[in-house]
Amino acid sequence: MLLPDAREAIVTACQELSRSGLVVGTAGNLSVRAGDLVAVPPRGVRDAALPPEHSASATPELVGVRRLDGTAVEAPLAPTSELPLHLAIYRARPEAGAVVHTHSLAATALSTLVTEVPAVHYYVAMFGGPVLVAPYATYGSEELAGHAVHALRDRTACLLGNHGAVTIGPDLAAAQDKSVYLEWLCEVYLRAFSAGTPRLLPPAEIAVVARKLAGYGQRA
Ligand SMILES: [Zn+2]
Repeated sequence: MLLPDAREAIVTACQELSRSGLVVGTAGNLSVRAGDLVAVPPRGVRDAALPPEHSASATPELVGVRRLDGTAVEAPLAPTSELPLHLAIYRARPEAGAVVHTHSLAATALSTLVTEVPAVHYYVAMFGGPVLVAPYATYGSEELAGHAVHALRDRTACLLGNHGAVTIGPDLAAAQDKSVYLEWLCEVYLRAFSAGTPRLLPPAEIAVVARKLAGYGQRA
């Protein structure tokens, strides 16, 4: 079996995302890139509704492996409908080792209201600055994939208008962490601007925090 570790990690991460409430039913998905290959879960099969042996993302064997052009290498089932989104991001962002896509509540609510998540908290530095909202396009379309790549540009996260959220990272753990922080940030902004006009942090401060975060965790 190709990419056994990546496929196993996807199974575990799908279960974690489901438990965390960041995804609902079969909505949302994640992928891992290793060289020219991408491991992606199969299309919309509910983990919770199926016995473990039939749940499409419950075994590493059923997680597909594809090339960056989408051709199947080892893929027993149809891929997630957002395959074009995942592949477009990997082609545009060689440093990305994993992509996490969710329909988490606060991020999705905000994606219907604003064009960016501004610097309401210094955590935006984690994503490279204010998080942009990609214009709406039909799910699974190349158009949506293009919008997402554009909104991600020099960022590690974006929202998809009237749809959800995307985060990327060097590996799955990093991309998953970011999806949790992004949801928190969206919740903060949603609450703050529901109550008034939030103060924003200046770009210079976000740059200071970005430098601090770059060193975070590396010191004893
Ligand atoms: Zn989606």
